[in-house]
Amino acid sequence: MDSFVYNANPGRVVFGSGTLKQLPEEVSRLKLTAPLLLSTPQQVNQAEQLKEILNGKIAGIFTEATMHTPTDITEKALQYAKDTKADAVVSIGGGSTIGLGKAISIRTGLPHICIPTTYAGSEMTPILGETADGVKKTRSDPKILPGTVIYDVDLTMTLPAAMSATSGVNAIAHAVEALYARNTNPIINLLALEGTKALASSLPEIVENPSSPSARSQALYGAWLCGTCLGSVGMSIHHKLCHTLGGSFNLPHAETHTAVLPHAISYNAPRIPEAMKKLAEALPESNGDAIHGLNVLLSKLKVKRGLKDFGMKEEDIDKAADIAVSNPYWNPREIEREPIRELIRRVWAGEPAK
Ligand code: NAD
Repeated sequence: MDSFVYNANPGRVVFGSGTLKQLPEEVSRLKLTAPLLLSTPQQVNQAEQLKEILNGKIAGIFTEATMHTPTDITEKALQYAKDTKADAVVSIGGGSTIGLGKAISIRTGLPHICIPTTYAGSEMTPILGETADGVKKTRSDPKILPGTVIYDVDLTMTLPAAMSATSGVNAIAHAVEALYARNTNPIINLLALEGTKALASSLPEIVENPSSPSARSQALYGAWLCGTCLGSVGMSIHHKLCHTLGGSFNLPHAETHTAVLPHAISYNAPRIPEAMKKLAEALPESNGDAIHGLNVLLSKLKVKRGLKDFGMKEEDIDKAADIAVSNPYWNPREIEREPIRELIRRVWAGEPAK
């Protein structure tokens, strides 16, 4: 076995169905008395539910969490936290709300309890992306990692089937890139394969029956493991491309990950035979071919495969290729403009990966 470094992130995880009820216990465990609850406008009801569970003992509710964590919203929330003398933040929602919780926590030192309701995995990472003046910047700091995460399967029941599918593939993408990360290790490989298996087997069932408790439970478990992968090792071409495409052409996060993933893997395939073999084993009906396995999964999930369906224009393909090659980063295969342009063209057109 090659030598490696394994860095465990020190988070506490409470997992199950109905675990939301354990929030008061988690709050008192940290000796907190006035948490500020955070949500998007779409999830106000869930924030209200938290208030009830905490018997109204909160600093307040801030419901303006927004995609890409704009700093003007963070400033507004910070002022509200100060005015209400909050001694913690509790974020309930997807990556957008958790991003706001991280942004407040890193600026104030307030403890952050996360209650994730999608499969994006932000709760398991020390990473924060923030947008100021239309530019998104990402940083990593161990202090960004939320201290406590409560996974309550019941909260994911309302995540619509289509969003569950793309959010779940977003999670699988973290695991896939972890398999061939430069700083990967055997422990992260175990988590990546277990997370991929759990999601690949449960997502098609969720699309057919979004209220299946067993499928929802498996998917959230898989999302946790995949999020851990994202928080532990470096990501490569897939994540960089999605960041470029999402940020430059205002494309939706999880849908972009879903459309790009098979193509990004196909680009790297010649350089990562071992990872391709393991991935194929984790994907049902792959017949030993990971790309085929992913294509089968995506067709079962009935997701859109072309970025043109999300408003990306044909002339943006060249712009995207230029940005993708202008920012050098580590990837198992060298980043070359022509094959990258062809990759982006295929994703734009929605052609299946080969
Ligand atoms: P999101 O948080 O933007 O949520 C999308 C919409 O779905 C919102 O309106 C939300 O209120 C709603 N929603 C969420 N859960 C729901 C549920 N259970 N039922 C009904 N509606 C629900 O989406 P996301 O994909 O989770 O997060 C995307 C954002 O997170 C992006 O900005 C991305 O960059 C960031 N992200 C960051 C990291 C990280 O490590 N820093 C990791 C993954 C994603």
